[in-house]
Amino acid sequence: MTAVTIAKQAVKSLPPVIRRPFEYAYGAVPLKIRSGKEFRHTYDFLQASQWWKKEKLEEYQWRKLLRLLRHAYDHVPYYRRIFDERDLKPEKIKDYDDFRKIPVLTKEIVRDNLQEFIPSTCVRSKLQYVTTGGSTGIPMGFYYEKDKTFRKEWAFILSMWKRVGYGIGNTRAILRGTAIQPERNGKFWVYDPVEKTLILSSYHMTDEILPHYISIINTFRPDFFHVYPSSIVMLARYMKEHNIPPFSSVRAVLCSSENLYPWQLELLQEVFQCRVYDFYGNSEMTVLGGGCEVSDSYHLFPEYGFTELIDAHGNLITQNGESGEIISTGFNNSATPFIRYRTLDRAVLNTHPCSCGRAYPLLERIDGRLQELIVSKNNRKIMMAAINMHSDVFDNVKEFQFYQDEPGHVVFRIVRKDTYSEKDTGKIRNELEKKLGSCMDLEIAFVDGIERSPRGKYRILIQKLDVLNCD
Ligand SMILES: [Zn+2]
Repeated sequence: MTAVTIAKQAVKSLPPVIRRPFEYAYGAVPLKIRSGKEFRHTYDFLQASQWWKKEKLEEYQWRKLLRLLRHAYDHVPYYRRIFDERDLKPEKIKDYDDFRKIPVLTKEIVRDNLQEFIPSTCVRSKLQYVTTGGSTGIPMGFYYEKDKTFRKEWAFILSMWKRVGYGIGNTRAILRGTAIQPERNGKFWVYDPVEKTLILSSYHMTDEILPHYISIINTFRPDFFHVYPSSIVMLARYMKEHNIPPFSSVRAVLCSSENLYPWQLELLQEVFQCRVYDFYGNSEMTVLGGGCEVSDSYHLFPEYGFTELIDAHGNLITQNGESGEIISTGFNNSATPFIRYRTLDRAVLNTHPCSCGRAYPLLERIDGRLQELIVSKNNRKIMMAAINMHSDVFDNVKEFQFYQDEPGHVVFRIVRKDTYSEKDTGKIRNELEKKLGSCMDLEIAFVDGIERSPRGKYRILIQKLDVLNCD
């Protein structure tokens, strides 16, 4: 344990009144110093590498890939085994055709063989166990390098945000599925002087509390919102209904961790009148990319990983506008190497260079999770991303969620507002039946709340069918 870590733990254990001055003082230390050398090196490197020419980036990426394969073969039992079974020693991998001989990696394989994925070089006490898979229904645990993996990730994220004006030290209002229990003062928010963030509870966004949120945000004057789309949408809908003007200090709404649906994007742009910035990534840290100064296309970091877009037959997609599943290989977490990993996410390729000048590979859009589909009676699959839920028929609905456990039948769960009446049910039914088509029975169910994942994430659909295998 370093002296800084010991000091941090000592400060954390102090009562709030005594702790606060320490936190303010620590917050005054520049982030680049506080976040350590992993953050600093990665951030500085990206400021230069983002402008490299295509050939230089590709050369760099290939070198990183070969280094990863060597590490995996020499130190990770799972890869040693599957490479040997296929007579695929790293030195035999000369190009991407050879690389594609490595079988794809699924969440089930990692889940069932986790111990085989831990490199022999890793010291167990320096590993951090993390879990994911809540939104895919396939829970999976794996490891990060403690104090290292996440700091590198943060450098990548701040490099993306920099494109929309975010500077290290800017202030943020946070709405990211956090539950804040009011202390004696009855406030549903806390200020973090270290990160310069105002953290607002996502679990208390009622019509009574939201005016207080708006007031505290106006006082705090954050430079940016940092949000889960499902949380900020509740604030946006309230502001729209009550004709509340956008916050003049906010330069962009930075979304992450949940899919941002087109209807959410449209609503957020309308209410906040600023850039709504989204990026795509995963907890497995195999792929990361976001928009730039001039485009919302996802600019994938070649410094972060290698991404393939694959069709249903396993062929590589190369044509502009075609879509496929994202298979990706991450460079930045050597504690659990993910090589040719099936993300179960679908995206559309963009082969046109972006006018920002970065030679990064581009995805035009992320079509969401492969499992985020509703199946009709005639086996038509409707993607959640394609259903526009930005409509005034939902004005008296607090929250909603789809649920399916048999083909051709879907339950639409509604949390009603006090203003909800039977008329709303009729309007919603009409609207949804138009969108879902005649081969779908729609059941409307009233519920008291929509359950969140352990990290507070919202899911628009609970899909109990095995949609990947029901052709
Ligand atoms: Zn660009």
